[in-house]
Amino acid sequence: MSTRTPLMAGNWKMNLNHLEAIAHVQKLAFALADKDYEAVEVAVLPPFTDLRSVQTLVDGDKLKIKYGAQDVSAHDSGAYTGEISGSMLAKLKCTYVAIGHSERRQYHAETDDIVNTKVKAAYKHGLTPILCVGEELDVREAGDHVSHTLAQVEGGLKDLPAEQAETIVIAYEPVWAIGTGKVCGADDAQEVCAAIRGKLAELYSQDVADKVRIQYGGSVKSGNVAEIMGKPDIDGALIGGASLDTDEFVKIVRFHE
Ligand code: PEP
Repeated sequence: MSTRTPLMAGNWKMNLNHLEAIAHVQKLAFALADKDYEAVEVAVLPPFTDLRSVQTLVDGDKLKIKYGAQDVSAHDSGAYTGEISGSMLAKLKCTYVAIGHSERRQYHAETDDIVNTKVKAAYKHGLTPILCVGEELDVREAGDHVSHTLAQVEGGLKDLPAEQAETIVIAYEPVWAIGTGKVCGADDAQEVCAAIRGKLAELYSQDVADKVRIQYGGSVKSGNVAEIMGKPDIDGALIGGASLDTDEFVKIVRFHE
């Protein structure tokens, strides 16, 4: 029996301004009961411009919801117009930061090397990365989804010490399932998540592999989450579209009911 606490994280993407963010987190906090947090960890990943408002709300009302960012700069400070550093996110008391989301890889040409530098930047400032990996449709159709995803895991973790690697969260998100309504079958998701855990055991040790939480992401909804969460190597979900709907997100958090 795994001792890993499932992590349900909502990736808001580029949605909700800071006022809408406050309303959304308030609604979420009101809807979630204390017992919900015993079974799972709940986190939201709002846009950068919302983080200060979310921090104030979470601190002020002592909410159990964790929060983080959707990206972090590979650099510490300086002439990097438009970027946000790990120290800035740490100052806002972020717990998590998503790194290497497929939309960053696709629209901002993020390579595994850049992702790896960002993972290290996150740890340097005490943030826990949610390292996103997963294959495009043509890769899956060619049957190369496992090797492709494992190469991204290896690239993202390059030269990362075991003490850090054992705390990372890895989100397996097949690109063809993100925002498309096409959910990856639970057995197919389990196949890749088990392979990721095997890769962690090979790179580090079985002990490290057993500690790492591996999420599934891609069109997760209240109707499919229980089956996905029933798989032994899936320890949570990264939820995009459905995390913007309070009722739906709460139902996802309560997948075990
Ligand atoms: C995501 O953005 O990481 C994601 C999984 O999106 P969606 O749930 O909308 O497919």
